[in-house]
Amino acid sequence: MTPSPITPAELEILSTKATAAKATAYCPYSKFRVGACILTEQGEYITGANVENASFPVGTCAERVAFGTAVVSGHKDFKALAVATDIKPPASPCGMCRQFIREFTTPSFPVYMYDVDGNYVVKTMEELLPDSFGPDNLPPSS
Ligand SMILES: [Zn+2]
Repeated sequence: MTPSPITPAELEILSTKATAAKATAYCPYSKFRVGACILTEQGEYITGANVENASFPVGTCAERVAFGTAVVSGHKDFKALAVATDIKPPASPCGMCRQFIREFTTPSFPVYMYDVDGNYVVKTMEELLPDSFGPDNLPPSS
């Protein structure tokens, strides 16, 4: 389903919550804080932050923490995602996260990427992960 358009007021809240979520990051190794916030079609905001691990590859990105939290909370329909970091220009989701997000979104789903000054770039999932592979590509299960 095509996500509903996001209003300026919703975008303001999304930005504020993604930026605030950086403070919850567990990143003692990289010191690279990432905050994420998803807006659901039901109007709920769900945040996440990166969680690192002493065994480095085990760490998880903010986007996957947020989507995992949303999905296990029963959410299926999402309107937008915001990601905030402390760098400039803004960082975009890593390849693993793009595939993870793709599972739960459509090609027109918007991803707002905020830099340290609060400026953003927005791209759709189609732009971030063209020719993607998703649940609709699997044959129907019997
Ligand atoms: Zn990632």
